[in-house]
Amino acid sequence: MIAAGRAALAGARVVLLEKNSRPGAKLLLTGGGRCNFTNVHLPARMMADRYGPNGKFFISALTRFDADAAIAFFAEHDIPSKIEDRGRVFPCSDRAEDVLNALLGFLKKNNVAIMTGVAISAFARQNARIEKVIATSGEAIIADNYILATGGKSYTVTGSTGDGYRWLEELGHSVIAPAPALCAILTEGPTAGYLQGLSLKDLPVAAFKEGKKIAGSVGDLLFTGNGLSGPAVYDISYAVGKNLPGEVTVSIDLFPLHDRRETDRILVELLSSNGKKLLRSVLGKLLPGRLVPVALRAWSIDEGKQVGAVTREERHKIVDFLKNLIFKVAGLADLDKATVTAGGVSLDEVDSKTMRSKIIDNLFFAGEILDLNGPTGGFNLQICWSTGMAAGEAAGNTGE
Ligand SMILES: Cc1cc2nc3c(=O)[nH]c(=O)nc-3n(C[C@H](O)[C@H](O)[C@H](O)COP(=O)(O)OP(=O)(O)OC[C@H]3O[C@@H](n4cnc5c(N)ncnc54)[C@H](O)[C@@H]3O)c2cc1C
Repeated sequence: MIAAGRAALAGARVVLLEKNSRPGAKLLLTGGGRCNFTNVHLPARMMADRYGPNGKFFISALTRFDADAAIAFFAEHDIPSKIEDRGRVFPCSDRAEDVLNALLGFLKKNNVAIMTGVAISAFARQNARIEKVIATSGEAIIADNYILATGGKSYTVTGSTGDGYRWLEELGHSVIAPAPALCAILTEGPTAGYLQGLSLKDLPVAAFKEGKKIAGSVGDLLFTGNGLSGPAVYDISYAVGKNLPGEVTVSIDLFPLHDRRETDRILVELLSSNGKKLLRSVLGKLLPGRLVPVALRAWSIDEGKQVGAVTREERHKIVDFLKNLIFKVAGLADLDKATVTAGGVSLDEVDSKTMRSKIIDNLFFAGEILDLNGPTGGFNLQICWSTGMAAGEAAGNTGE
């Protein structure tokens, strides 16, 4: 939508082809229906680092249309915004629907024709150019330039069924294999199951492969029936997936305000001043109640043990649990359940200023189809705005 509107603004006659009955089905789900549409935690250049090694590709488009530009764009389209924790930006109305309507208004204002219910089935190529796209109905649509923005391959119910990947391969592009990003992590053993439904706020979470840290994040997390979920877990999931199969663990720091020595000191004080009490009730002062029986089970400590009988070795186990609760990773949630699909068109084959294909002269890219993904917090929609503006501007200036 951004790319189509921007191309029209540059003077092109534009038609947006969408297989659903209206564009933006996934956008309506974003931010739990509130649409966390960008992030202002960091200036653009530093923000690019949050996209990992491929962030370098993104710098040009991001600095030309950054988070402030996205906020200004939506403000111009009657969507004032507010900033929440960790720089997350939402519309003041808390309605993704309003963001979608603003985009539809942008298209209307710039006379973009929208053809809905049109599923494209193939791209016809002649030498290094797209000649036409063909719909499943057999209808051909002919243009000077084409912008491919079919998204990823997750939440397929919204229309993002990965069609673009197939066309790209047929057109001679390399596609980095689609993989889940920002998704739940499945864990071994029963512990996550015992804690199903328990959510914890603002905790450091880290992933390790054979003892070496591969990712870390701080944020909220949730125990599911078979693993871990929530923003902090989503943020490390891509790195976890890249390191599977293999011995990967996730560690949660349940006592983040104190290091191990201080935690031990606090525990010594607490135990010595509560000698006659049951360990389980004293632990309830340090841990959310539902974690206490899990902790006791993990250390094979009797539920009825008195604080005074806790050994030094047991105290060290408690510190371990508080500072480094470890889960062995069994895998990632299905690609379809991932918030974002990692992988996509290889960035080596795309011009970072214009989003133009280096293989097909009149093909451009925008959004999740690119091999670019970021953490939670509005970083992924910012990819759509920045690359959409870059692709729309370039395609609109060079075609009809
Ligand atoms: C539950 C959920 C919550 C999210 N929350 C956030 C958030 O708060 N903040 C954030 O930054 N990101 C969020 N994201 C990620 C963000 O929604 C996506 O990165 C973004 O929607 C990608 O936009 P896109 O335009 O590239 O692709 P999409 O939004 O997937 O759109 C692609 C469009 O192409 C159409 N299409 C596909 N194939 C064809 C075809 N053959 N013919 C015609 N049309 C076709 C589809 O129907 C679809 O409408 C969330 C994602 C999910 C699933």
